[in-house]
Amino acid sequence: MISDGEAIQSRLRNRQAALAFIRRTGGCSRSDLMRELGLSRSGVNHLVSALLEEGIIESSSDGQGSRGRRGRPSTYLQYNGSRGYVAGVDLGHGHVTVALADLNGNIHAEATERFDVDHDPVGTVKLARTLLDGLLEQAENPVVQHIVAGIPGPLDARTGKMRTPTVLAGWRDVQTFELFQDSFEVPVTLEHDAFLGVYGEFTRGAGRGCDNLLYVKVSGGVGAAMVLGGRGYRGTSGLAGEIGHTAIPGTSELCRCGNRGCVESVVSMDTLRRQLGFAAGKTYEADEFDVREITDVAGVRILSEAGWTLGRLLAESCNCLNPQRLILGGALGAYSQTFLEGVESAVTRFAQPAISEDVTVCVSELGTRSEIVGAVMLAAERAVQAASTGSERVNA
Ligand SMILES: [Zn+2]
Repeated sequence: MISDGEAIQSRLRNRQAALAFIRRTGGCSRSDLMRELGLSRSGVNHLVSALLEEGIIESSSDGQGSRGRRGRPSTYLQYNGSRGYVAGVDLGHGHVTVALADLNGNIHAEATERFDVDHDPVGTVKLARTLLDGLLEQAENPVVQHIVAGIPGPLDARTGKMRTPTVLAGWRDVQTFELFQDSFEVPVTLEHDAFLGVYGEFTRGAGRGCDNLLYVKVSGGVGAAMVLGGRGYRGTSGLAGEIGHTAIPGTSELCRCGNRGCVESVVSMDTLRRQLGFAAGKTYEADEFDVREITDVAGVRILSEAGWTLGRLLAESCNCLNPQRLILGGALGAYSQTFLEGVESAVTRFAQPAISEDVTVCVSELGTRSEIVGAVMLAAERAVQAASTGSERVNA
């Protein structure tokens, strides 16, 4: 016999799972919910009626079919966008981007500005707040329910502080979480930027439908993140995937962390931009450089070798994780086919044959937007959790 407590828990789980599914798919039909939750039609009707009555979701019959299915559902369920917004903040080493999205994770407005993020944490957060306030001026209902910010460094998810004194050193003694919370005055979640990248690709990009993903962001730095078994994997303290300062055997380039031969010192965008400029006999400015424009023979060699070098390291990661997709993101990873082919060759050569056969190496479908899309999708997820009673984690 099922006790009252078990029945309440079961209803809560179904409610959270339904909200998470509606958010993840961007909207669905009642039949989709029946299949996803394994509930009867009357069970789904009961659940949906309650969510409609509370105004958390809304229904329409405007013909937007659920993703990947033909036909037109009789009613289409989605989040009630008028209940407010969520915001995402993407911090690079040299820029601040803020996006305002509805509760389905659809971005309505976005602003970005170049800034020395590495050395000025207070100024960075102040700028993010200013950019968000600017976006909210145009909004009809300027209520932000949750903010997710991506930090490009080793943030300890348990303490909200940076863990190493050498990377993002300007943030070392800063109570990063409190800094964001005090500035924005709404619930804030901080994540490693690469984690938001994998979450963006998992929900809206090249990782849709895959349960095991390895995402590697290659831009000003190098960082990795994972979805394992359909859930984001952060590790013990949120630092899983910090591969940028792994030493590459046989290299001696000085790295910004003070060591020599780190992955970042060999394959990051800044290093390659300098090498490509040297080979081409010109100076590529960071603001204007686009790796897609590199077609000269020497440049192609440099990009291919950099991909091969990273691929050797990632072959070992593939052996550990056996992923379905290895997604390359960031300004270098997402846009250079030559770099991708270098990574792919090394993974094929050095990973276990059965593992390399099962993994597809691809570029991020969202280009350099994986992190900001992941930020708003995760913020929507958090807002969903707040809309549910209870705090059980559903997906991320
Ligand atoms: Zn290093």
